[in-house]
Amino acid sequence: MDFAHDARTEELRAQLLDFMTSQIEPAEELFEQQLAAQDDPWAWDTVPALVELRAETKRRGLWNLFLPGEAGAGLTNLQYAPLAEITGRCALAPAVLNCAAPDTGNMELLHDFGDEEQRRQWLEPLLSGEIRSAFAMTEPDVASSDATNIGTRITRDGAAYVVSGRKWWITGAMNPNARILIVMGKTDPDAERHRQQSMILVPRDAPGVTVKRGMEVFGYDDHEHGGHAEILLDDVRVPAGNLIGAEGMGFAIAQARLGPGRIHHCMRSIGLAEKAIELMCARVEERVAFGRPLADQGVIREWIAESRVRIEQLRLLVLKTAWLMDTVGNKGAHTEIQAIKIATPATVQWILDKAIQAHGAGGLSQDFPLARAYAGIRTLRFADGPDEVHKNALAKAELRRQHARRTAEAAR
Ligand SMILES: Cc1cc2nc3c(=O)[nH]c(=O)nc-3n(C[C@H](O)[C@H](O)[C@H](O)COP(=O)(O)OP(=O)(O)OC[C@H]3O[C@@H](n4cnc5c(N)ncnc54)[C@H](O)[C@@H]3O)c2cc1C
Repeated sequence: MDFAHDARTEELRAQLLDFMTSQIEPAEELFEQQLAAQDDPWAWDTVPALVELRAETKRRGLWNLFLPGEAGAGLTNLQYAPLAEITGRCALAPAVLNCAAPDTGNMELLHDFGDEEQRRQWLEPLLSGEIRSAFAMTEPDVASSDATNIGTRITRDGAAYVVSGRKWWITGAMNPNARILIVMGKTDPDAERHRQQSMILVPRDAPGVTVKRGMEVFGYDDHEHGGHAEILLDDVRVPAGNLIGAEGMGFAIAQARLGPGRIHHCMRSIGLAEKAIELMCARVEERVAFGRPLADQGVIREWIAESRVRIEQLRLLVLKTAWLMDTVGNKGAHTEIQAIKIATPATVQWILDKAIQAHGAGGLSQDFPLARAYAGIRTLRFADGPDEVHKNALAKAELRRQHARRTAEAAR
């Protein structure tokens, strides 16, 4: 395993760092002001500061870096990892580069499983940044960490499918420009457990779709990223051609969608942890209590040292996972993808907690980015599946492996 940056990664890193420090990070405040001044608080992607930065991204050749193959920048996961880490330092950056969730996962899904017409109608405008999208799986009425529970029905009726159900926590869907929803529902509740589900494209403005309200995370409505919507689907008729893949493929597609999405979240979270340690060190050097800088206190030094060690451990694990995804595929890297999904949000949450504590009460306030970042990282212990589900699956795989090892040893 060689995790040194190759020449292409190094060049892109330098370009991205320059863009981040010279234009993206300084524009964050202007973006907030312009968003606050406009009529629709959810229509964040039409804010002039962001529109201009997105045009500049294209001019600089930094657009769609996340997407492998010809449709995107053609980077491997190992090449993209250090770039995604840089974008984690600033909440605006992923959207500027067209590398933000949930669009990235949706674009990958349409790229891998969509037919020609679906790609023309929805993937192309997503790739160009003209529209945005949402992924609608979770439901308020059932435990959705077990996706086989979902109750939304997708029923064939002649040349159409009729979709009915209730979804919540649908990220990005408060934004009117999230024109397309990828909805997971059941086409055949009597089929084998993992073959009951299908995925279907539902335009947000289709008759019967009601975007009911935005959900809040610790009081933040996340309007600057399109919020998280509760959505009613009431006998929504869409053409039969909107089904993605075939009936019964929904569960398998959902699993495939989450691999790259999880590693992107983890890479960005490491960038956020780097920012937290930077803020913590700057604050404790200038702040004096009981006659000496906070930086001289042993307990604070322990937090700083622990934070550094944990970041380095995490980064190595994430890079190993990226390398495995490139060399043996997403399936072969399954255990490691689960491991980083378990380790990263919890570790970065720990680091943010220490950075907040070192800042005093100011760390909880709107004057520093730490409280909002803490709320954001806490959500990643649910989004794309709660910690416990991943731990359960990882432990099962480990038990199987250990059992097989013991059986092989006994047979020798
Ligand atoms: C900010 C945010 C954004 C989100 N964005 C989206 C989105 O865009 N689209 C979408 O479809 N969903 C989205 N979600 C929803 C997310 O995927 C779900 O919250 C998650 O899958 C858990 O489902 P649930 O909330 O129904 O929890 P439940 O299934 O009710 O589970 C509750 C708890 O039970 C425990 N548990 C569950 N299974 C096990 C197990 N096997 N072993 C031990 N304990 C277990 C866990 O502690 C879990 O937290 C988002 C969530 C958040 C917070």
